[in-house]
Amino acid sequence: MSSKVIVTIFGASGDLAKRKLYPSLFRLYKSGNLSKHFAVIGTARRPWSKEYFESVVVEAIADLADSPEQAQEFASHFYYQSHDVQDTEHYIELRKLQNRLNEQYQAEHNKLFFLSMAPQFFGTIAKHLKSENIVDGKGFERLIVEKPFGTDLATASQLNEELLAAFDEEQIFRIDHYLGKEMIQSIFAIRFANLLFENIWNRDYIDNVQITFAEKLGVEERGGYYDQSGALRDMVQNHTLQLLSLLAMDKPKSFSKEDIRAEKVKVFERLVQPDKEDLKRFFIRGQYKSGTVKGKKYISYRSEPNVNPDSMTETFVSGAFFVNSDRFRDVPFFFRTGKRLTEKGTLVNIVFKQMESIFGEELAPNVLTIHIQPTEGFSLSMNGKEVGERFSLAPLSLDYRTDATASGASPDPYEKLIFDVLNNDSTNFSHWDEVRSSWELIDQIEELWRSNEVPLHEYPVGSMGPDASFELLREFGADWQWSPNK
Ligand code: NAD
Repeated sequence: MSSKVIVTIFGASGDLAKRKLYPSLFRLYKSGNLSKHFAVIGTARRPWSKEYFESVVVEAIADLADSPEQAQEFASHFYYQSHDVQDTEHYIELRKLQNRLNEQYQAEHNKLFFLSMAPQFFGTIAKHLKSENIVDGKGFERLIVEKPFGTDLATASQLNEELLAAFDEEQIFRIDHYLGKEMIQSIFAIRFANLLFENIWNRDYIDNVQITFAEKLGVEERGGYYDQSGALRDMVQNHTLQLLSLLAMDKPKSFSKEDIRAEKVKVFERLVQPDKEDLKRFFIRGQYKSGTVKGKKYISYRSEPNVNPDSMTETFVSGAFFVNSDRFRDVPFFFRTGKRLTEKGTLVNIVFKQMESIFGEELAPNVLTIHIQPTEGFSLSMNGKEVGERFSLAPLSLDYRTDATASGASPDPYEKLIFDVLNNDSTNFSHWDEVRSSWELIDQIEELWRSNEVPLHEYPVGSMGPDASFELLREFGADWQWSPNK
């Protein structure tokens, strides 16, 4: 890995930079993955001095530093340039600063650009980086872009074209921060390092797969953005389908980024595009209404600040995807995601088929649960014998769980992902072929929903979404395994 690099952050005064990027860069610095040969250029519209920028960085890492001197030494690597991304003159100044810091820190012309601002500016930034010769072909040049990558296939394609004018696909790292999470990366280990699972990871043994991304919070202060986006675009096009691809892919030839990507892309290409009738049946949308939970009142989505009072935006979506592969043909991959649900939790349940019983009673299926957050780990539900002289079955669970994020054992996804970019490892990023295929499918659902031919179900605050989401699974003879309301 090269720790010699000048990192330029566009959007350095923003929320993401302060909450995630500075702490993650600091942890990489503390662990020796960034050395004295690195500097960060922060750009944003505000006219900050270097001293003020340093104080922002110091504040952002206050809880992580061993001493004030260590925090200050780290912050001394940060430089600020007031910058309007539309203004060509500012890029000329940026190039001068970039060149000066490259000399000063002997960064061997290595450059990393992090676009941490609204995507409508990505194209213009990429264009200027090229035209003003900041991207000059010397050293490595890598671009990290934040979500959302487009709002449909057309805008995503246009954005991609704009980025390709300055960077090759291999240089573009599209962030999906879920892919930086410890347990999502553990899926590779669970599947491909355990004979027990890999041999039964197919349609002969797996009845269905259930992916849940539940949030307890509402839209908070993001109402303006969210009302234009909705749960389908915000959570399904990217995180849900990326996670699905890791669960559904075939075994890669090796653990290289090329072989993993090849298998992931195949899953996206084999996603079944349902006809109109199936689109209506397989995808459920919902919106939270006002209500009271444990004596506390909550307003409806339509009453949230910056949300259209007649909004038809979904705050919940649930559905069934299918992958047309020999491994998983006809196996439903159910998913649900929403706001103001019972509790926060991201997890996957792999529900195995029921076996024939010799005990005169029906057997509960084995379920492998991958806990992604807030706890991390996995559990396997099994059938055992109840203790006692009579023979009767009792459920038991093998549990391996930690609150690793709270204990600091797991790296923050941004730390892990920036580490990967420095290593030129694109395994945990979304490839354009994946993004394109996912938008093709999501666009069809959006188009149907815009025609209002399917209902927008209301659901109570503190529930796990509308009844229709439960009925969907019952249609397939299944039930949501995780029911925090029970
Ligand atoms: P923010 O609104 O807090 O910050 C935006 C930044 O862009 C500011 O530094 C602002 O000065 C700068 N900016 C805006 N217009 C500019 C212009 N014309 N020229 C130069 N600078 C300009 O946004 P954020 O929450 O930090 O999010 C940044 C990106 O990350 C967005 O794409 C967002 O979708 C994505 N994202 C954020 C989060 C999060 O937790 N905040 C999570 C996931 C994705």
